[in-house]
Amino acid sequence: MTQPDVLIIGTGIIGLTLGYELLKRGQGVHLLEQSTVGQGATRAAAGMLATDEELPEALHELAALSRMLYPGLVQQLFDETGLGSGYLEQPFCLQHANQQMTFNPVGQVDPRLLTQALRSAIERRGGVIEEETTVSRIERDERAMIGVMTSRGLRTGRQVIVAAGRGSETLLGTIGTTIDTFPVKGECLSVRLATGRLDRTLFGDTVYLVPKADGRIIIGATEHVGDESTTVSLEGIRSLLAAAINLYPPLAEAVFVEAWAGVRPQTGDGLPYLGTVDGIDGLFVATGHHRHGILLAPATANVLADCLMGQTPRVTLDGFNSRRQEESR
Ligand SMILES: Cc1cc2nc3c(=O)[nH]c(=O)nc-3n(C[C@H](O)[C@H](O)[C@H](O)COP(=O)(O)OP(=O)(O)OC[C@H]3O[C@@H](n4cnc5c(N)ncnc54)[C@H](O)[C@@H]3O)c2cc1C
Repeated sequence: MTQPDVLIIGTGIIGLTLGYELLKRGQGVHLLEQSTVGQGATRAAAGMLATDEELPEALHELAALSRMLYPGLVQQLFDETGLGSGYLEQPFCLQHANQQMTFNPVGQVDPRLLTQALRSAIERRGGVIEEETTVSRIERDERAMIGVMTSRGLRTGRQVIVAAGRGSETLLGTIGTTIDTFPVKGECLSVRLATGRLDRTLFGDTVYLVPKADGRIIIGATEHVGDESTTVSLEGIRSLLAAAINLYPPLAEAVFVEAWAGVRPQTGDGLPYLGTVDGIDGLFVATGHHRHGILLAPATANVLADCLMGQTPRVTLDGFNSRRQEESR
């Protein structure tokens, strides 16, 4: 195997968009995945490209860049692979108590379709994706990155990006770097209306309804802080259904399709870790996107690729650096 320029750990939405962006910029990429592509938090996501009302202010600039990049990204993926990503723009209604605010239009994607399109585009451009390959530690000497040790042996690369979602903290721990992350489990279900169609996303206090391009409506999501399991509880489904029918009564007649759970990678201060790690030449991190990783992925890929290639990122990464906890003490 020839040595790639960049090793990426993780093939969730963050690792995949990064891999694709770097290939477009002429870099060789090799992605390592302990499971199979897109099965982590990304598979569980509803795919909303949320409005700024739901985001900390520190993320507004990244979010705006992502929303600008999304239509071009999904079109380019379609042109290269023939695969759609379920991109839609729809009215978005925020409903709190008796007040309703409508934003028009807000985008959304189908994360499962998007990851398959990204995978296909990466492979067509010559990127390598190695599944069922667990990274156990990051390898470097005093001068430079060596690569990573995996369940299939050493993989070398002059730059390494940790984009392993919930696995990132443990991996960075292997070189003595501490980041502050924790799991937030979320349960969801999908249904189909017996008749009619919901033509907007409805976002209430305890539930959201996201109509997808294929006619399903995703009902999400519970929040269980500290829970790393991906089992679906009856209480989770019951509470989501009760709130969903209250928000949109025609759902009472809908047909059940599927239920699932995923674990959001959250950080102590609610902001992702993006950029270089502890000033170590060739080591980068992109994790901790919590509820907004689908939205923030194209911007994350764009600014990290700038960083890797020694260019000034379009959005400053000062507030997202891996040393911010130490610096604020
Ligand atoms: C119920 C739910 C609904 C959501 N809805 C939305 C939404 O509507 N909009 C939005 O923007 N976001 C949403 N999110 C958040 C979004 O899903 C996440 O922020 C995003 O998927 C994180 O992507 P990631 O690539 O960082 O992590 P992941 O998707 O978890 O990918 C990390 C990958 O790294 C791999 N990995 C970990 N450790 C190792 C290792 N040691 N070696 C090799 N591979 C490893 C994992 O197997 C995994 O495939 C939702 C999340 C949940 C749970």
